[in-house]
Amino acid sequence: MTDARSGLTRRRAVSLIGTAALALTSSASLAARPKLVYDLMPVQVADGVWMIEGTTEYFTNENGGAIVNCALIETDTGMVIVDTGPSLRYGEALAQIAAQMSVSGVAAIFNTHHHPDHYFGNQVFADKPIYALPGTRTAALRDGDGFSDNMYRLLGDWMRGTEPVPPNQGISSSTVSIGKREFVIYPLEGHTGADLAVLDKKTGTLITGDLAFLDRAPTTPSADLGKWGESIDLLTTVNAAAIIPGHGPFDKTGRSLVQTKDYLEWIEETLQTAAGEGLSMVELMDSTIPKRFVKMGAMPQEFHRSVSHLYPDIERKILPLSSQ
Ligand SMILES: [Zn+2]
Repeated sequence: MTDARSGLTRRRAVSLIGTAALALTSSASLAARPKLVYDLMPVQVADGVWMIEGTTEYFTNENGGAIVNCALIETDTGMVIVDTGPSLRYGEALAQIAAQMSVSGVAAIFNTHHHPDHYFGNQVFADKPIYALPGTRTAALRDGDGFSDNMYRLLGDWMRGTEPVPPNQGISSSTVSIGKREFVIYPLEGHTGADLAVLDKKTGTLITGDLAFLDRAPTTPSADLGKWGESIDLLTTVNAAAIIPGHGPFDKTGRSLVQTKDYLEWIEETLQTAAGEGLSMVELMDSTIPKRFVKMGAMPQEFHRSVSHLYPDIERKILPLSSQ
């Protein structure tokens, strides 16, 4: 309740600040203001499959939160979109692209999970089937207003008018057909409590959501590292022709799964060792990051965020053992 109320207040505040700024700004400096337009570039990666690649940074006013990968898949009943981006404005840009690609526009949406960069564009597609795991809908209803507050704080005017719209179709089957195109459903967890991976049966393209990252540090605010590792093991057995990871470039070799698993194991081991040695959070954040991870996007910020999310719990588990 508090979240919802403060969310509305913040949204109104952002819009009021916008109006005040507009009134005070001369037309000359208005021209210098960056246009809040997403420049989305779909790239064809397989037969009837396009990927829109996000930047590998953290959310900034410059990138407007366009840090996520989205997929567009052609069917005889229109385009299927996997993940809808961080804002109403982003969803509108996606709808425009889909309308250019198919006379039928958008047939259906999949949301891989409930993090805001993956579903806050849903508002534009509220009258379409928006498929997700049932746990994703529950989590979106629980966390949507809190996430919204945070996104308005980080992205300001990019978020104008955005309201979180949860998915409206819970998936309980192992496949979903849209028109004549069939999608194999992998109901997994670990990055969040409900993570959907979708395989396009026609091309073998696997869309992993945030179960796989590539050359961008994985995010862990809702993570269970053990379960995440098991989910990656399962996705490895799919032997996909190629992977569209949640963040980072198109992956033709499965490197995203290997790299994400390697990173998660390193995080867990590093945090456990630090807790055993009684390091403080600040000392841990100063740790040397291995060469193979140091050039990932959003490093070291994402490592620092992971320490703050995960370390208190690991310390609690390790400390009683080491004092026995
Ligand atoms: Zn995520």
